Amino acid sequence: MKTVAAVDIGGTKIAVGMVDENGRLLCRLEAPTQGYGPYLHALERVTSMLEEAVGRTGTELAGIGIGSTGPVYPFTGEFGDVNFFPQWRGQNLVRDLEKRFHVSAAIENDADAAALAEAGWGAGQQKSRLVYVTIGTGIGAGIVFDGQVYRGVDQAHPEIGHHVIDPSGPLCDCGFHGCWESLASGPAISAWTKKNAPPNYPRASELTAQQICELARAGDELALRAAEREAYYLGLGLANLVAMFVPDTIVLSGSVMKSAELFLPTIRKIIAGSCRFVPYDRTELALASLGDDTNLIGAGRVWFYRFATAAGRV
Ligand SMILES: [Zn+2]
Repeated sequence: MKTVAAVDIGGTKIAVGMVDENGRLLCRLEAPTQGYGPYLHALERVTSMLEEAVGRTGTELAGIGIGSTGPVYPFTGEFGDVNFFPQWRGQNLVRDLEKRFHVSAAIENDADAAALAEAGWGAGQQKSRLVYVTIGTGIGAGIVFDGQVYRGVDQAHPEIGHHVIDPSGPLCDCGFHGCWESLASGPAISAWTKKNAPPNYPRASELTAQQICELARAGDELALRAAEREAYYLGLGLANLVAMFVPDTIVLSGSVMKSAELFLPTIRKIIAGSCRFVPYDRTELALASLGDDTNLIGAGRVWFYRFATAAGRV
């Protein structure tokens, strides 16, 4: 049984773990991303966390898989212009960890890593056309067709979360007004609620998307409107994906999707009403099955994908 180390680099935390070839997470450590500062400090911290993870499981290390908030260059191993870590650009975690641990390593964008995990070990098994969408602080997506990650020119990761839904919507860092993320991410739910709350509405400015969903479940009128608006924008974006790709499955993940039952009826209605030129009812909407550690398990999957399956070879 091969076991690999996994490193998941996100905007708020870096998680490290050990993942076996069946996708089981054997141990898990994490530290906040903030405060890592310069790249070399982060490298030292990741290295010591990896050493601890390897020590805890007592297994032989077959390799290291990394999933990172993007952009990253999967075949050189370099970080691109990652918003959260301006000083990391051009640094190469793959090469540095290979040197330290004397095993092979591979990196992918975290949405691609999670998509690979769901395709290989989760809700997308036996599905040849899978689109994975995670809706939380942002909206990320990965496409896996016939076991292979779809990549653009120069191996670029497509940014499906930033396709335009309503050009009169809010401005996003991507350059567009009204991209999907600006309208349907968790922070977009909070921003809308804050803006539309009557003056006497309790704690409107502090509410998180999760709290708004809880209020909606309890029947709060404003929260129900916020949930309906969220379902509408999720539905438009997902209908676009159905119309463009007609996948077997769209796997839905992320913190906002923990309240999927609030959104799914409207999402299904929008897809049925706007995708008539394709067999939309053949596209299954599935919830991610690997749980809160999908990204970390996905990081482990990155190594198996690149080095242990034929599909990953380029
Ligand atoms: Zn955007």
